[in-house]
Amino acid sequence: MNVGIVGLGLIGGSLGLDLLAQNQENYVWGISRNPETCKQAESMAAVNVASIGIDNIPDRDRTDIVVICTPIAAILPTITALAPKLPSNIIFTDVGSVKAAIVEPASKICQQFGQRFVGSHPMAGNTLQGILAAQRNLFQNRPCVVTSSNDLAAFEKVRSLWQLVEMNVYECSPEEHDRAVASISHLPVMISSSLIAACQQEEDASILQLAQNLASSGFRDTSRVGGGNPELGRLMAEYNQSALLRSLYTYHKSLQSVIDLIENKQWEEIEAFLANTHRDRSLYVD
Ligand code: NAP
Repeated sequence: MNVGIVGLGLIGGSLGLDLLAQNQENYVWGISRNPETCKQAESMAAVNVASIGIDNIPDRDRTDIVVICTPIAAILPTITALAPKLPSNIIFTDVGSVKAAIVEPASKICQQFGQRFVGSHPMAGNTLQGILAAQRNLFQNRPCVVTSSNDLAAFEKVRSLWQLVEMNVYECSPEEHDRAVASISHLPVMISSSLIAACQQEEDASILQLAQNLASSGFRDTSRVGGGNPELGRLMAEYNQSALLRSLYTYHKSLQSVIDLIENKQWEEIEAFLANTHRDRSLYVD
């Protein structure tokens, strides 16, 4: 497959590394705003060729798919800038962690140039950023959403891209995606960050210091996503506001019922509540 990657960071760089390592027939070009990133991506074999602009990319007219791997806020401006410079048979996709705010406007931009857009969200990553964070097998056996499209050929092409890097592809609408990730990805970021903020509200300085000294593996697990990239968290809230608020209000109710059970000394009920969550966790993760 001939793939263009725009935004050579953790996700874009890791995609290029896998595509090139896995099949010599794959060809990958990349675009970054930074010439040093272009050199680095070429030297680590994340791309065959990289440039700070599309004009210097040889054979770009033979591209099958262009994958936009920039931060969410830059996805639509990037497609707007690139689409007029690419041929009409091109398929665009993205990797943004929200879909409703991207898919419809991106499809409209592409239609103006006879191009197609299908949204993607590979559910893989970590808290590191930039080309040096790129790694092999980041996507292997992880889920990836590809948004439904009336253009079955374009949908299948995008699905096959993610299958090449061994992802398990799920098809759904942008709105279904946003509701699902609000509860399992965006809500945990807000809960985990609120947990850290609540601990920091301890008024007694010596107790606060003791808590910080005693924090161990449990706190490491529960605070991990709340201590991640602030810009990414802000973008989740900004671009998935209604689905995230829906999940937060549901969580708020759940938390209030836990408070009520504890205030009313309903120990049997709290144990039953925890027995259900103990059982249900395995529906989400191993
Ligand atoms: P990253 O490592 O920071 O990479 C982002 C890339 O975009 C960099 O190459 C950066 O490079 C370029 N970029 C930054 N701002 C830009 C702008 N204003 N215009 C054009 N290019 C810009 O971030 P990432 O983790 O790969 O995330 C990229 C996308 O993946 C995001 O949309 C995110 O929602 C999605 N995603 C992330 C994860 C995760 O866990 N990290 C998981 C799934 C999906 P230069 O400065 O070199 O141009």
